[in-house]
Amino acid sequence: MASVNEHYLKLSAGYLFPEIARRVQAFLAECPQFSNEIIRCGIGDVTEPLPRAAVEAMKSATEELAHRASFKGYGPGTGYEDVRRTIAEGDFRSRGLSVADDEIFLSDGSKGDCSSIMELFSHSNRIAITDPVYPAYVDGNVMFGNTGGPFDGGGYEGLVYLPCTEANGFLAQIPCAPVDLIYLCSPSNPTGTVIPREQLAAWVAYARKHRAIIFYDAAYEAYIQDPSLPRSIFEIEGARECAVEFRSFSKSGGFTGVRCGYTVLPKSLCAWTDGGQQIPLHPLWTRRWNTRSNGVSYAVQRGAQALYSVDGKRQVAELVSHYLENARLLHEGCVRKGLAAWGGTNAPYVWVRVPAPFDSWAYFEHILREARVVVTPGAGFGRRGEGFIRISAFNSRANVVEVVRRLASVQ
Ligand SMILES: *Cc1c(COP(=O)(O)O)cnc(C)c1O
Repeated sequence: MASVNEHYLKLSAGYLFPEIARRVQAFLAECPQFSNEIIRCGIGDVTEPLPRAAVEAMKSATEELAHRASFKGYGPGTGYEDVRRTIAEGDFRSRGLSVADDEIFLSDGSKGDCSSIMELFSHSNRIAITDPVYPAYVDGNVMFGNTGGPFDGGGYEGLVYLPCTEANGFLAQIPCAPVDLIYLCSPSNPTGTVIPREQLAAWVAYARKHRAIIFYDAAYEAYIQDPSLPRSIFEIEGARECAVEFRSFSKSGGFTGVRCGYTVLPKSLCAWTDGGQQIPLHPLWTRRWNTRSNGVSYAVQRGAQALYSVDGKRQVAELVSHYLENARLLHEGCVRKGLAAWGGTNAPYVWVRVPAPFDSWAYFEHILREARVVVTPGAGFGRRGEGFIRISAFNSRANVVEVVRRLASVQ
């Protein structure tokens, strides 16, 4: 008899985005005349086409595969050496941060990395997760059996939730309860908050003192324009002893469909056996990749590498500033309407408090019906997301201008 991994059965049935799609379908079934009017600011997917530099690099990489002399079969499981060098140089060493080429591990996007990293850790770790949070961290840990069952109001037994509320500026505070593994996301999906340098330094100090490890999700680092804000946890002294960083080309290079990201796992990062022996994690993560994967496709790696060329960098900067201007317009539109709104600078999300008497799903429905605009109810990101909605800036300028116009007329 095949027995199932019952941890999967703990997962909340109505995952956020299918539930949003269901509600939009229900509205359109009632009012089909609006089907061409719906504007989606819900899911965090990019809309603008790929940078030309990446397209050309992927085309010529594909052409290489068509000729015997330049054909490539399997590549290294962790990425081509020169691609890892381009990344380590372009994102870290050129900014004065010491990251070696072989500390970069290429993947097909960082969503998977955020949970597969747990393969390196035992089930006994106390895991801290912000609330609200990017749901993939939580669900990945549920699947691994690192949590208990769900509890009423959203959340799982066995996780340590770090509330991110208006009162603390949506910044996770160091918990009183001891924790071993800590997920931080900066700029945050969903709140758009960026962790300032001093707070990040406090987390690093905590992690070093308690031999904890920080999983730092920097998927949106390209959106940080304020030079005083850290773009990488490795800007903090001591982070090489206590942090893994997740990066992605999805939101910077528009790679959500192409699929490429990477982890930075320093050689100095260690965890401990039950017997107290210190084990470096770099060989384990290398082994994990070489066993479980044959790496990212050749053309995609060349496409990602091209984002670091002179043209590529300029094109990424143009994409990012397009979405940042969208975010500014959306934030301004909300404030003009009298709504309390956060994020939208240094981040592509605007986090908006829903006005009384609505809760976040009711306000989602209200905006859908009155403005034909799809947003994301904050409750879908955790208990502390109740009372908020997230508006995504990933859209065309024309759509954003129209969303702002329509929101202004919603009662
Ligand atoms: C989009 C996103 C990612 C990146 O996902 P990919 O798998 O690289 O497309 C990672 N973390 C957060 C919080 C995100 O929103």
